[in-house]
Amino acid sequence: MNNILADRLKESRVLLADGATGTNLFGMGLETGDSPELWNTDHPERITKLHQSFVDAGSDIILTNSFGGTHYRLALHNAGHRVEELNVNAAQIARKVADGASKKVLVAGSIGPTGEILAPNGPVSIEDAAAAFKEQALALKKGGVDIMWIETISSAEEIEAAVTGVASLGMPIVYTVSIDTNGRTMMGLTAEDTVRISTSLNTHITAVGTNCGVGASEVVAAVKNLSTARDTLGVRPALVAKANCGIPEYIDGEIVYNGTPELMASYAAMAANAGASIIGGCCGTSPLHVQAMRDAIDQYQPAPTPSLDEIAEQLGEVSQGARAQLSGDLSVAGGSATGRGARTSRRRKKPPTNDA
Ligand SMILES: [Zn+2]
Repeated sequence: MNNILADRLKESRVLLADGATGTNLFGMGLETGDSPELWNTDHPERITKLHQSFVDAGSDIILTNSFGGTHYRLALHNAGHRVEELNVNAAQIARKVADGASKKVLVAGSIGPTGEILAPNGPVSIEDAAAAFKEQALALKKGGVDIMWIETISSAEEIEAAVTGVASLGMPIVYTVSIDTNGRTMMGLTAEDTVRISTSLNTHITAVGTNCGVGASEVVAAVKNLSTARDTLGVRPALVAKANCGIPEYIDGEIVYNGTPELMASYAAMAANAGASIIGGCCGTSPLHVQAMRDAIDQYQPAPTPSLDEIAEQLGEVSQGARAQLSGDLSVAGGSATGRGARTSRRRKKPPTNDA
């Protein structure tokens, strides 16, 4: 298979992805509860502007505005019948910006969770979910994306459904999970599980990783765990880090992310040293932050993987669950929500940057 993402990864040690879609669109007038995907037809010029600002900031990969583009999610906005139209438009808008760039920019078709709980824990079968992902993926391909980018997933079943849905399209596949519950996803997946799942799927996965979650420190710790898992399992998918811009705070009725451009620059270098080769930002990450990450990556000098203490010092506290996993404790207790790991945090440090 011709794999444009694998080719680009051979040319560059680190590829810079983009920043947030949702939180930046809020800044452009999107209201809480609105579907960002409807803007692909209602306000395409605003989506173009956001993509352009990330390309101008130096992104090598931009993600389409199609995170909630399955019929399950669109149905919540009475647009379940508009999957093809909204996803084709999402892809075309991003494609046009990428093709107008002065350097090579890849377009990743963003595919988020269905929002449904899949069998055996919930009512939607893996086959039905896979069909929904395929419907979305076909439209994204038709609109011209280069990559199928499955993100913010929390269950093994949903990874399976999404990968199964997109696999027949013959495009590079990336999936990332949201590690937000003491070193695990909401549905209990560790970083090791995330890599292991890629070995059980009947198709090639170009990159796996983590996005969103609870802040840059936790994402870098997860990349360390992903990297260890890769060595243990003897597989080499590229690793993706797409961290939120610090920790969300509720200020004057609005959710604000507290990460500075400096914090995101440190995060980018640390994520690279931990083994990530595709690095971007998730919620709260503005073009200004992406520009700081571009500079950090351009000036990047390879260094040993950061220690947990270095991560905590520069980016903020690391959960006990992630720490326990790094010390080799993959038991339920090692990453449980109660946080009783084999190795507890001995030196608690205030996260200096995150408190700013
Ligand atoms: Zn996010």
